[in-house]
Amino acid sequence: MRFDQRTAVVTGGSRGIGRAICLELAAGGANVVLLYAGNEAAAEQTAAACRELGARATAIRCDVADAQAVKAAMKAALSEYGRIDILVNNAGVTRDNFLLMMRESDFDAVVDTNLKGAFLCIRHVVHAMMKQNYGRIVNVSSVTGLRGNAGQANYAASKAGVIGLTKAAARELAQRGITVNAVAPGFIATDMTAAMTEPAKEAALSQIPAGRMGHAHEVARAVAFLAGEDAAYITGQVLAIDGGMSM
Ligand code: NAP
Repeated sequence: MRFDQRTAVVTGGSRGIGRAICLELAAGGANVVLLYAGNEAAAEQTAAACRELGARATAIRCDVADAQAVKAAMKAALSEYGRIDILVNNAGVTRDNFLLMMRESDFDAVVDTNLKGAFLCIRHVVHAMMKQNYGRIVNVSSVTGLRGNAGQANYAASKAGVIGLTKAAARELAQRGITVNAVAPGFIATDMTAAMTEPAKEAALSQIPAGRMGHAHEVARAVAFLAGEDAAYITGQVLAIDGGMSM
């Protein structure tokens, strides 16, 4: 997959799946702008790893739930690289609890980052993509957005919302050379899943036909395909990357 002359913005690019996506796109020759919440050391380390692959890369601290911060980050990316061809809405958080105990603030925080953040990023890159008559937007949903999961009402709602956002945006933008797709990862080895309890991990593993967790690079390769020129006629789709978990 080649992305020469292309510029990609990847939210949540400092760690986990986002980091793997940055490296995959950088290896293909893309300029990479990675947004992160607060982990500057990890973000700079990912940017340096992209540069080692021969790419230009910039890390920008940006809370995707903050409209002004998103606007400023996209402006900075455009002023440095001149265009934004690829947007990967990957930033995500969990604040798990059962419904009866879930605080309103935990519901809002998860929806604000995972769903409103994706909307804001699309909102602030789409003008540039329209002018280019070219764009690839890939939103990171989750198997939980497809199936629901006990203890994750906030997260499931946000990730199901990402699928609706993907389809609506795909319909609006299809005639402007812009595709909008989603991936729905299953159970992937990152900091997010490392925080799960052992019983929760065992329960998740027992539901995966492939019998193992996924790797971040397995998600990144699928994202890179959807972000590439060859995926021009694919839009509004949700690709599960989950070892068969959502079948
Ligand atoms: P992770 O290891 O916890 O990394 C989360 C990333 O998101 C970090 O780069 C973090 O930045 C960034 N982030 C968090 N809140 C942010 C905000 N408000 N603004 C900007 N960036 C923010 O997570 P992951 O497992 O790689 O997950 C990546 C995506 O895949 C998420 O959307 C997640 O929901 C989804 N997903 C993951 C799995 C899985 O099994 N791991 C399964 C399905 C879907 P800092 O480093 O600065 O904190």
